[in-house]
Amino acid sequence: METNPLNKSDAPQTFAEVVTIGSELVLGQLVDTNAAYIARSLAEIGVGLAFHTTVGDDWDRMRIALRTALSRADIVIATGGLGPTEDDFTREVVAEVLDAPLELQPDLLAYIEGLFQKMGFRMAPNNRKQAYLPKGGHVIPNPRGTAPAFWAETNGRVLVALPGVPFETEPLLREAVLPMLQQRFAPAGGLMINRVLKVTGIGESNVDDQLRDIIRSSTNPIIGLQASPGEIKVRLTARAGSTEEAGRLLDQGEARIMAQVGPLVFGRDDETLAGNAARLVKASGYRLAVMDGLTRGRVAADLCPLLPEPLFRGGWILADPQSARDLAEKALAELGADLALAVAGFPGEEGRIRTEIQVRTRDGRGAERILDLGGPPRIVGSRALTMTLFTLWSFLRDEQTAKTAGAPEAL
Ligand code: ATP
Repeated sequence: METNPLNKSDAPQTFAEVVTIGSELVLGQLVDTNAAYIARSLAEIGVGLAFHTTVGDDWDRMRIALRTALSRADIVIATGGLGPTEDDFTREVVAEVLDAPLELQPDLLAYIEGLFQKMGFRMAPNNRKQAYLPKGGHVIPNPRGTAPAFWAETNGRVLVALPGVPFETEPLLREAVLPMLQQRFAPAGGLMINRVLKVTGIGESNVDDQLRDIIRSSTNPIIGLQASPGEIKVRLTARAGSTEEAGRLLDQGEARIMAQVGPLVFGRDDETLAGNAARLVKASGYRLAVMDGLTRGRVAADLCPLLPEPLFRGGWILADPQSARDLAEKALAELGADLALAVAGFPGEEGRIRTEIQVRTRDGRGAERILDLGGPPRIVGSRALTMTLFTLWSFLRDEQTAKTAGAPEAL
């Protein structure tokens, strides 16, 4: 089988090119939102976007752009130039490129005339040209405008022409084009489904070190890292013919990652560290107090709104340094908490901050973390916040795991 030079992985893939047509786009007078929207939508159905071309309303340049696109992509999606005016001639250029003369579609003409009648207008002679399609083309009905969209095939490749107005382009793509492409290219492209595992507690380069072999050898799912403040996202992208098959591939990929960095994976997809820590507090039934000598209240601000009132026993925000251990004891003694979370910072060498984090329960269990954090105060605060939430989350996760492991088996 001939290999597609665009394909960078072992799995077969379908590639597309988007051709956005409009002089305002080329001149920078209009931001091309169609290209971004189409790119995101194609990714969801497993079609890779290989090229994006923008071309002005110029017959020769449009012909070159569309010919080139059809020579290198399986799917070409063009937007713009389907209107009734003199400078709208995408339909005509496509007919020339496909070598398929325009033919009047009587049903389409009746439909367009009907639209004008409904609006109470007389149809301008110009609109008649919208009822023509390249021979062999298929209409994509456009309920939101007069410009009908269409698609056509040539040598196993598909060309889709959509109007340029995003209010029309976007629903046409979602409702008609994606299902058609999915059906047409299913065996090659199938579905593309993402899963994100969120890691914290170590830096990106450490995660990269630990996952390097898995990332390099990953083909399906493809695995990649993306760092953002406070967390590293491990993104798994599986391509498969069905949701079930994609789910199975993602589970296999996830198992490999968990074997390597499992204790640091605090969540998936849209989950947050504060949200998952709060969920574990709720599951434990502990009443929590937060003592904060470093982040100026950010720990409580992130966590406390997520806890039901009876589980939140308040806390203090302090300006003077006090040891996190003392703060935790005070929370247990004076605030009626069963679980204390404390963070404190002390000036260290070269402007660095010695950071203490404590988690303590009323019955003497807990976790402790000492860090040496450097950087501007805001960054130190953010890192301290993440590590404080992470310390709470991992303590409660370990307690929950121990409880589950020690629980008598149900009869
Ligand atoms: P119609 O003429 O029926 O409105 P059309 O297919 O002829 O549709 P164009 O004339 O090319 O579309 O564009 C119409 C309007 O749609 C443009 O003036 C612009 O506001 C918007 N538009 C066109 N292309 C894009 C794009 N790529 N991204 C965002 N907006 C676009």
